[in-house]
Amino acid sequence: MPENVAPSAEPQAPQTVTRAHLIDWLRRLHATITEHRGYLTELDSAIGDGDHGANMQRGLDAVAEQLDNAPATIDELLKQVGMTLVTSVGGASGPLFGTFFLRAGVTAGAETEIDATTLAAALRAGLDGVSARGKASANDKTMLDAMIPAVEAFERAASDQAAAQAPTPAQAPTADQAAAAAAAAAAAAAGRDATAPMLARKGRASYLGERSIGHIDPGAASTALLFESLAEALAN
Ligand code: ADP
Ligand code: MG
Repeated sequence: MPENVAPSAEPQAPQTVTRAHLIDWLRRLHATITEHRGYLTELDSAIGDGDHGANMQRGLDAVAEQLDNAPATIDELLKQVGMTLVTSVGGASGPLFGTFFLRAGVTAGAETEIDATTLAAALRAGLDGVSARGKASANDKTMLDAMIPAVEAFERAASDQAAAQAPTPAQAPTADQAAAAAAAAAAAAAGRDATAPMLARKGRASYLGERSIGHIDPGAASTALLFESLAEALAN
């Protein structure tokens, strides 16, 4: 961007993430999980028990069924998604993704729209919940290897946005919520790909030891879909 462009005189409407955005996110997630179910099954067949596609499908089918009568506030919406995933998915991934949405909901609060900074805090709480529940950390070859860089990228972009809106000279790069989500999606995809050379230290794949090397982690692949669908929803 050229450096000497004067700021626009037009007052800009504050950008928010609405309940409708989040419902759109969940519908898109359901659609992309359905589309990629076979791929997720293939990944889990290589280093797990082959049920990840079916697990995610069952969970998102149950989530999607509730969206026509979704709760009025963002916290209740996300908590309902979390509870549904925890109760409907048998595998390790259900309680973990369920925890992500439950914690994100608690942090988002009883609102119908939130700003990018609050969404960043909600995503961070979700990530911390997954990490605590699964007792895993970066480089264990799990969903966290996509989720950690995604949340960090979102946080960076959201804080750049907050800095740019400050009254003092705004030299910080601007980034709106759509750009933050796009950065998170790109980081999640890179994190997914980075799981291939890793040795699995958590979950079923860890039973394979060295033989887990050379395969993408299925939960990291689902996590990339989760952030990709968030980016698509927030782009609208
Ligand atoms: P299961 O392993 O019970 O068959 P799934 O196949 O649905 O469940 O999910 C497997 C995914 O769950 C893995 O690819 C990994 O990303 C994730 N996972 C497993 N254990 C953990 C853990 N302790 N922490 C974080 N993610 C985990
Ligand atoms: Mg499995």
